[in-house]
Amino acid sequence: MTTPRTIRMHENDNVAIVVNAGGLPAGTVFPDGLTLTTRVPEGHKVALCDIAQGAPIVRYDVTIGHALQPIACGTWVEESLVGMPAARALDDLPKPVRGRAPLPPLEGYTFEGFRNPDGSVGTRNILAISETVQCVSGVVAFAVERIKQELLPNYPHVDDVVAIEHTYGCGVAIDAPGAEIPIRTLRNIATNPNFGGRVMLVSLGCEKLQPARMFPQGSIQIQNGQQPDTVCLQDAAHVGFGDMIASIMRTAETHLAALNLRRRETVPAAELVVGVQCGGSDAFSGVTANPAVGFASDLLVRAGAAVMFSEVTEVRDGIAQLTARAADDDVAQAMIREMAWYDEYLRRGGVDRSANTTPGNKKGGLANITEKAMGSIIKSGTAPIAGVLAPGDKLRQKGLIYAATPASDFICGTLQLAAGMNMHVFTTGRGTPYGLAAVPVVKVATRDDLARRWHDLMDINAGRIATGDATIADVGWELFHFLLDVASGRKKTWAEHWRLHNALTLFNPAPVT
Ligand code: CA
Repeated sequence: MTTPRTIRMHENDNVAIVVNAGGLPAGTVFPDGLTLTTRVPEGHKVALCDIAQGAPIVRYDVTIGHALQPIACGTWVEESLVGMPAARALDDLPKPVRGRAPLPPLEGYTFEGFRNPDGSVGTRNILAISETVQCVSGVVAFAVERIKQELLPNYPHVDDVVAIEHTYGCGVAIDAPGAEIPIRTLRNIATNPNFGGRVMLVSLGCEKLQPARMFPQGSIQIQNGQQPDTVCLQDAAHVGFGDMIASIMRTAETHLAALNLRRRETVPAAELVVGVQCGGSDAFSGVTANPAVGFASDLLVRAGAAVMFSEVTEVRDGIAQLTARAADDDVAQAMIREMAWYDEYLRRGGVDRSANTTPGNKKGGLANITEKAMGSIIKSGTAPIAGVLAPGDKLRQKGLIYAATPASDFICGTLQLAAGMNMHVFTTGRGTPYGLAAVPVVKVATRDDLARRWHDLMDINAGRIATGDATIADVGWELFHFLLDVASGRKKTWAEHWRLHNALTLFNPAPVT
């Protein structure tokens, strides 16, 4: 029989979570004498003392809610007993803490990457075919199949051919405020470091998102300073479908030949641009996987790399912690600006941040978005927040960055791709087979049980932290080394192994027509 175990995140907390697989029955006595008065499911909270009606329920040293009725010591603190606190107003937030010593540098770590003309570094050598509009997607998909079968085998140093398919480009209010977000997202994805600084574009001809609008002169820095290499399907020279496919394949081959000349070289770990996010979260996310990612994030920042954390609705409740961690007032103000924009966006839709949580989150033990947010923010580690990025913008600095994106897994990943990430870290408790075609996605399981059942989908098992078999630092270092190995092409993620990837999903807050 395994010893009953709880994890308490902070000494001021009046709840802890039960970590035993399958939960624990009423009458269970813990080594410290705590006795359960009710059953408590795995990952759910137990009251560590009597909590009066209206009193704060504290986890992560933060009030995650108020007791809607008296809760006796040893009782399951289920969702229906927890009243959600109001969102923190965006005025009078804490100022950035001054005079903090920076994290000590971490030197000597490198990986093997593909250096690009603009100075960025790819972790894969991929031919990307961008599209102005959804109308061309079927044709491009057909061409990509043939390119993979007939051309790619002749270019062994090219890893893959990827169509940047999306549903934008026409039937949209392209001049509306907010439309610049999907447009700049597409522009910046085209120059992701994994695409070798070459931009190939397929356009229809009559679409709203014309090539010149997608890539205004001088808007991107690509090979030899040229404009994107564009194939227009409505071009008069194309007689029949076969001509279109031949055009795309001919253009693709010139790019494959150029990409094939590239070789990996040793570069400092500082060239990593890591996007972190979580999906399918449970109460263990904030106890095991996300703290381990936070530890790895600190290592990466210390090594000079860039780390992006995102997901507005999952950090909104922690805004007071985040402004205190901002490197300066400008960064704090930028963070508040992004949160305010999102508050208004949700208000227009008739919802608030509480729309974030899923049935799976709640089944996994997260009572509300406040509790989920505290577990989510831990992914960002302890480094000062060096900068803020608006949705779809390209990242141009190192350090820990708050990249404002929706929490939706596919949209967050798409926007981090546009920001220029070359490695992606994804934590999950409930389990998701998420992957991206353009960037390796390292998946970190929050629970032993998930890592065991999904042994050929999860790359790192942070559940060992809950069972006491590893520390947060152990898993953090393991993740750091794994990132360097995968970035170098020495190892593959499971998602790459199975070629699992999700559709890119643009964030378009503007109307469609
Ligand atoms: Ca997410």
